[in-house]
Amino acid sequence: MFKQHSRQVKYTLNIQIVCGSAILITDYPKGILEFTPEYGILSPAMVPPRTSYVKPRRLRLETSTACQLKCPSCPTASGETGKRLGIGFLKFSDFKKIVDDNPWVSNIELSNWREIFLNKELPRMMAYAYKRNVALHAVNGANLNNVDEKVLEALVKYRFQNITCSIDGASQEIYSMYRVRGNFDRVIANIKTINKYKAKYRTPYPKLKWQFVAFGHNEHQIGQARKMAGELNMSFKVKLSWENLYGEAFSPIKDKDLIRRETGSGAASRQEMRDRQGMDIYAKNCCLDMWINPQVNYDGRLLGCAVNYWGDFGNAYQEGLLQSLNNEKMVYAREMLMGRRASRPDIPCTACTLYKIMQKNNYWLTDEDVQEHYWKSRTYVMLENKVLGPGLTARLAESRKKLKHLLKP
Ligand code: SF4
Repeated sequence: MFKQHSRQVKYTLNIQIVCGSAILITDYPKGILEFTPEYGILSPAMVPPRTSYVKPRRLRLETSTACQLKCPSCPTASGETGKRLGIGFLKFSDFKKIVDDNPWVSNIELSNWREIFLNKELPRMMAYAYKRNVALHAVNGANLNNVDEKVLEALVKYRFQNITCSIDGASQEIYSMYRVRGNFDRVIANIKTINKYKAKYRTPYPKLKWQFVAFGHNEHQIGQARKMAGELNMSFKVKLSWENLYGEAFSPIKDKDLIRRETGSGAASRQEMRDRQGMDIYAKNCCLDMWINPQVNYDGRLLGCAVNYWGDFGNAYQEGLLQSLNNEKMVYAREMLMGRRASRPDIPCTACTLYKIMQKNNYWLTDEDVQEHYWKSRTYVMLENKVLGPGLTARLAESRKKLKHLLKP
């Protein structure tokens, strides 16, 4: 049992009635009374350690493991992920059950192994998420090659939060060297259609990001792509490729100084990033999924993070989401990633290239790294989408944050 403490603490709480039971929620996870099915209501000092109990507001739910493109270093294109995860789609009924059974989940990332727009039930999911005040994201990326106009409109109408558009070039010729079978003009046309509906519905959502994975064959087009992104009202990011994470590295960088500048990280390769920072920052973020953003396959298999496709930690549909996130394998893996336990053959991380690099460099996640991150609550999403709009809601949240800070004991 966890130590009780008698210190009086002031809390600002929203009380939301969900399915007949009171759930205590706040927009700021730190310093709250936490309700857990196992332990009841806990004060911050009684909340279990971050390795043994997590209840993140954000979840990754795979919408599709199918893709129409054939990107050379992608394990989906090579058929590797299909062999392990199956090639399939998230069903609306499973999506609805996750949303209904877990009212603490307020953000769902839909993209990972592949193209979310190939899932025919996506519009139903968007409409339902909007109704239940759950924010949807496709931050991992979408290629946007094949999307009906009705779906593009639904993205705006149901306030899909953000989409990372994977566009590694500024012309058809260069773009399709990595995004094999992709159609550059169609992608740009789809982005323009989204912008048309954003103007019609007067909303900033979905926020669009142009993600340019830098290779030797496309680095000369970074400037041109950045300019186009600006014209399309998109943010722009140059990303290092995963190099040999899933096989042989494709089209290595030629102009290293350019890439060091353009990525903003000062590194032109993942090895350089590790040399400079002790750890590849992208890799660290992937492992953090085990705490703040866990990955569930379309069929319920709990994969833990966005990198793992070769093993699982149980099944979230069968065990229940909260139970599976805190089962023995997940707890053990989180301890491993913090360097507190030896590797174990049945834990997927043991076979992971990133884990081996962490082991070699003796570089582990810290207590500070694994703290709960801020994600919007369902109340926030409701205020933003249905009551006040994004600007006023953000200002209200900011004032509330300042007030909380002033009231801190
Ligand atoms: S070690 Fe690999 S499999 Fe394990 S959480 Fe990190 S990225 Fe995922």
